[in-house]
Amino acid sequence: MNSSYFTLYSNCFLTKGHAGSVILDVHRNRYLPIKNEIAALLENDLTSHTVAQVKATFPDLQEGLDAYLNHFVENEYGFYTEEPQKFPPIDLHYHHPGHLNNAIIAIEGIEQFDYQSLLLELLELGCWHFQLLLLAEQYDATRLDELLSIFETSIARSVDLRFKYDCLTFEQYKALSFPDLRVISTVYGQSAETSHYINAGTVAEKYDNVFLHYVTRALDYQQPESYDESLFYQTLAFYTEAQSHNPGLNKKVCIDPEGNIKNYFTHSASFGNIAKDTVSTVIQGEDFQEKWHISNQQVAKCSACQFRFMCLSYSDLMYQDGTYKKVEDCTFNPFSNTWA
Ligand code: SF4
Repeated sequence: MNSSYFTLYSNCFLTKGHAGSVILDVHRNRYLPIKNEIAALLENDLTSHTVAQVKATFPDLQEGLDAYLNHFVENEYGFYTEEPQKFPPIDLHYHHPGHLNNAIIAIEGIEQFDYQSLLLELLELGCWHFQLLLLAEQYDATRLDELLSIFETSIARSVDLRFKYDCLTFEQYKALSFPDLRVISTVYGQSAETSHYINAGTVAEKYDNVFLHYVTRALDYQQPESYDESLFYQTLAFYTEAQSHNPGLNKKVCIDPEGNIKNYFTHSASFGNIAKDTVSTVIQGEDFQEKWHISNQQVAKCSACQFRFMCLSYSDLMYQDGTYKKVEDCTFNPFSNTWA
């Protein structure tokens, strides 16, 4: 293998941070932490020299390098080849065809605003993914069904219903289904009925295209950001978007229970209200879109972090001392490579 080159698979991307690096595999949705010294070799020396040439340049690395490269091969992150030029990199150009991709709507009462027209407008804007946060203690199942019927035969790819209270019967939850649409229902809180299912171990059920989950924690749509590895995404779509955009805010709109149109619920800025403004007009404003384009590369701390192309964050951003900062700071320290 010494006369060969070593290369990572095209679906495996190297991200270097200040104190650590990762190889991010977007096919298997996983990542491998590695040392910066190895990342530097993968990024520089090994792209233009054979393994033997690299070993000759760094004699101290002889066995250590073999161990690393063999580990990458065994775990299918990379391979040896005589012809590295035959494996060009993947095009990382980001494009989403719609004006929006993602809408989160917090609803207290279905009658409070014209939610039917709102959903139709969002679908018109090319929105694919919807999350409806249903906050009232009671909903009329027929009215809810009428509202959700808008998604039937629409362009929506997913509808995520989150109930703050266990307000429908088990059969009514199951009935919120469409043959061709992925619907996820999550019921928060722990009523007698919910606890029955949780205690019976039935915390997630699937009926045709409905996934029904019961969780015991409370639904708080204004909950401050908490960061951990569960918010890391290793998909090609996420990775390409994160090169030039903020995946947590880009092409997203949030409507709070008072009808305010925001980038995200926890942000202080509101750009209009669905009682008097059309979402189409608001989301096309430069001020509304400003933070869509601020990638982690432009955030001082995140630019030093090896997780910057997989980290999902909804935090607001502030411009301070010539750079951007997240209003809700994370607990990872990219300079010491440790979580607080
Ligand atoms: S918020 Fe920034 S520094 Fe924190 S884990 Fe995400 S990318 Fe890294």
